[in-house]
Amino acid sequence: MSRAFNFSAGPATLPETVLRQARDELLEFPGAGASIVELSHRGPEFMQVAAEAEADLRTLLSIPDDYAVLFLSGGATTQQALIALNFAAPGQVADYVVTGHWGKTALKQVQPYVSAHRAADGEAGGFRDIPPRDDWRLSADAAYVHYTANETIHGVEFRDVPEVGDVPLIADFSSSIASEPLDISKFGMIYAGAQKNLGPVGVSVVIVRRELLQRAGQPRAPILDYAAHLQGESMLNTPPTYNWYLAGLVFKWMLAEGGVAEFARRNARKAAALYAVIDGSGGFYRNEVAAAVRSRMNVPFFLHDEALDAVFLDEAREAGLISLKGHRALGGMRASIYNAMPEAGVQALAAFMGEFQQRHG
Ligand SMILES: *Cc1c(COP(=O)(O)O)cnc(C)c1O
Repeated sequence: MSRAFNFSAGPATLPETVLRQARDELLEFPGAGASIVELSHRGPEFMQVAAEAEADLRTLLSIPDDYAVLFLSGGATTQQALIALNFAAPGQVADYVVTGHWGKTALKQVQPYVSAHRAADGEAGGFRDIPPRDDWRLSADAAYVHYTANETIHGVEFRDVPEVGDVPLIADFSSSIASEPLDISKFGMIYAGAQKNLGPVGVSVVIVRRELLQRAGQPRAPILDYAAHLQGESMLNTPPTYNWYLAGLVFKWMLAEGGVAEFARRNARKAAALYAVIDGSGGFYRNEVAAAVRSRMNVPFFLHDEALDAVFLDEAREAGLISLKGHRALGGMRASIYNAMPEAGVQALAAFMGEFQQRHG
């Protein structure tokens, strides 16, 4: 068997120990006489899996008791729409800080429901920087302020939680949740699709201040109502049990590895190693994001000559380094280096990039 180092942005690489455990348990979940994927979500085995996943995530992220945790299907994009339905009155102003592709998506999802206001926007600068906090034009009567903690495509990451006063802060942490310690009490809600840093695609995590769930929001079906999901223990309908189970295994793995503080140290080293190769290449490689807001999770980069892109990808694959092609919106390359990417993988990529430059420079 030859597993490559996989730099995919999402669905993304998973810890090998987790995949092995899932394989070992696929035919029979210990003591159950069946696979966990074949059992009722209301049976004792899955109820235990679900309870442990929540408890482990609470430990991992130090989630305060006055925050609810939901495991939902629909991906991050669905949460982007549900935010408006649950927390804003029809047509109310909601502030959006747009620092890349996903911030734009978030805004687009709520346009039928709220008066979406671009309080800050990095688009004119090609999303290579985050507009300074002093330039944001926040609305006093906004239902909430939304931002994207890490822009997965543009490689732009907030290094601090922005101060927005009393208006609830809602953040898309899809591609950076659990990558470093975070003070959740600063947020009204954070959410993340699992397929970047938490597990397989098909389940999303919503962490929301309980008090916010009392807002009336807008007319909506119970299945679109976060309070109803909480009351139904994220089982209003059949939940994505296998994805939830796999995410639970990833949470246990992260705790065993030393938790988010340890991943923060590893992630800082991994990102520094890649940016060092890019910046030290004399222009052979380039990353155009302002240094202070470069993402630790997704490193987009360009070769000085586009004609080399295909060669780079072919030779990388031969060296056991896959999924480096950049998002079609930007072109070039992108290395996604989430928690499950070992430091050895980033070292291998850095070494390959150096050798590739020598051969083709
Ligand atoms: C991937 C991603 C999304 C979209 O997630 P889906 O689960 O496909 O809906 C949204 N925001 C960010 C920051 C992402 O990285």
